[in-house]
Amino acid sequence: MDCGTWERRLYDGEPYISGEQPDAEVLTKLNSNENPYPPSAAVLAAIAGFDGGQLRLYPRSDGGTLRAALADLHGVPRERVFVGNGSDEVLALAFRACFGGEGGILFPDITYSFYPVWCDFFGIGFETRPLDGAYRINADDYAGEKRGVVIANPNAPTGIGEGEGFIKKIMEASPGCVVIVDEAYADFSEYSAVPLVDRYPNLLVTRTFSKSRSLAGMRIGYAVGSPRTIEALKAAKDSFNSYPIDSVAIAAGVAALGDSGYYSDRIGELKQTRDLSVEKLSRLGFKVLPSQANFIMVSPPAGSAEGLFLHLREKRIFVRYFAGERLKDFLRITIGTPEQMDALISEAEGYVSGGRSAGT
Ligand code: PMP
Repeated sequence: MDCGTWERRLYDGEPYISGEQPDAEVLTKLNSNENPYPPSAAVLAAIAGFDGGQLRLYPRSDGGTLRAALADLHGVPRERVFVGNGSDEVLALAFRACFGGEGGILFPDITYSFYPVWCDFFGIGFETRPLDGAYRINADDYAGEKRGVVIANPNAPTGIGEGEGFIKKIMEASPGCVVIVDEAYADFSEYSAVPLVDRYPNLLVTRTFSKSRSLAGMRIGYAVGSPRTIEALKAAKDSFNSYPIDSVAIAAGVAALGDSGYYSDRIGELKQTRDLSVEKLSRLGFKVLPSQANFIMVSPPAGSAEGLFLHLREKRIFVRYFAGERLKDFLRITIGTPEQMDALISEAEGYVSGGRSAGT
């Protein structure tokens, strides 16, 4: 049967590959930068108490009360906030909304691997600039850019975060292009560029409830920017899916924002566990990149990163391995509970001290 004609028209772009989501009961899942702690009791109560009868109605297409609560959180008018179905969707819409037409965009060679996928999907040209020898982004590579720039800060998968001087350097020198700062992990860092959106109308900052607010399964993301960029995002949304965020997610998101004490305590715990894990792994001889996120990039002093990845997997501890040239000596490890990290560190110690099987 000749299916050649219709098959040629099927989408054949290279998709994003997410961390494995194993079906079986996993001892320790540290491969997708999820939060090991549950959502707050107030969030669980909001979900349990949600009036299911309301689901016959469409949700507020702009996120309604959640958009208003986010505007309050950041001290900006609602016109500066856009809410979507996870920050992946917000970013995808932002790529389409901000980088249409000719010109293409620029991002680091090592960063969130979804960026080139969206470029491919939307037909946006891109170029990359290499991280420096310490795996840091060089702001000079992006300053003066006239096309478009995307920076994850903290960057992924390195975990390295930059401060205000870095972002300002790019913004001051690049008034002619939209700069997207992806702050998926900023709640674990010392810095957020959100306050700068007042000053730079071409700055768009994206954020998520998936990491610091323990709601990866609820799919809530948002952007803060100038009214003009938010309008463009809305137009992109309404050209694709008018109701991206569901009514239960809106209720859960509002409850999460109302329980900031719970979340800042969990963030504090995770940062403490991160710093302690870095200390312990460094003592074992691991090279660890300085992280301001809820994950760390580590390179073992013996054996190989891939060998350690397979060893941990055998022990039902899932971490992430990226096989690219500059990352092949590293593993990305999500920060879990102290008990999970102890289990991981103990297995890692066994592996590097010779317990590993030959050839790995
Ligand atoms: N940006 C970065 C840098 C990420 O690592 C992720 C998580 N994979 C996202 C955005 C998207 O997160 P979410 O869609 O869950 O909000």
